[in-house]
Amino acid sequence: MEQMKLGSKVFSILKDKIQLIQTEEDRGIYLVGPIRLPVNLDGETVEFKWYCWLNYDVVTEDYERIIERLSSSNLAEYQQSSVLVYGDFKNADDALIRMHSICHTGDIFGSKRCDCGYQLKQSMKKITEHGVGALFYLANHEGRGIGLFSKAMAYVLQENGYDTVEANESLGFVNDSRNYDDAIQVLKTLRIKPVTLITNNPKKLEALENAGLLLSGRVPLWGDVSEYNKKYLETKVVKSGHIKEDNEGTCCND
Ligand SMILES: [Zn+2]
Repeated sequence: MEQMKLGSKVFSILKDKIQLIQTEEDRGIYLVGPIRLPVNLDGETVEFKWYCWLNYDVVTEDYERIIERLSSSNLAEYQQSSVLVYGDFKNADDALIRMHSICHTGDIFGSKRCDCGYQLKQSMKKITEHGVGALFYLANHEGRGIGLFSKAMAYVLQENGYDTVEANESLGFVNDSRNYDDAIQVLKTLRIKPVTLITNNPKKLEALENAGLLLSGRVPLWGDVSEYNKKYLETKVVKSGHIKEDNEGTCCND
């Protein structure tokens, strides 16, 4: 395939916005940003700084080579992850972060079968209210890492009496196969001080700490309970060990 040749003007614009974070000898993470991203948060416009990263099987600081490969790499067939940064993320003493797993049904369609869409918006709000933080949107985490098609299959099983964990396991998946290594590499590039994590999930906390995240605390996030996700949320508490906060308003085991 003929590779395109990048114009020098285009490269001079892009070169300072891309950086390599090497993870292994034959794999690198390329981070692009910051890019101004005004976001509508409940009718108010809030400006985040958007970064996106690509996990590539080429390791080079010759970014021209990377950019020239993009148009023939079929990237739309894969998903890339993002981080939305707010405030002085690098220097502030206290920063809130959310590691949000992509949820096509909840985040995009607004599905009430889970609480992801609600958690996404609430996390963004908490971060902006706090003044400093980052929302990581992890694209390879659909359905706790099983992918969208398998998640559809798991939903069929759930309509036939299986809970979330049983459904994933009977399709041959381990309950939670999410990996946070890339996200933590990116986080370390943007900030070296500890962070406060928005989560109800102690296993996630543990996984992140094991992967090298410096934690200064945890902020819980519950809400948006309905008849459609009550069982899903109960399973999170009973089987996945999520910590339910009684003082968080709506709770999920009434
Ligand atoms: Zn969801």
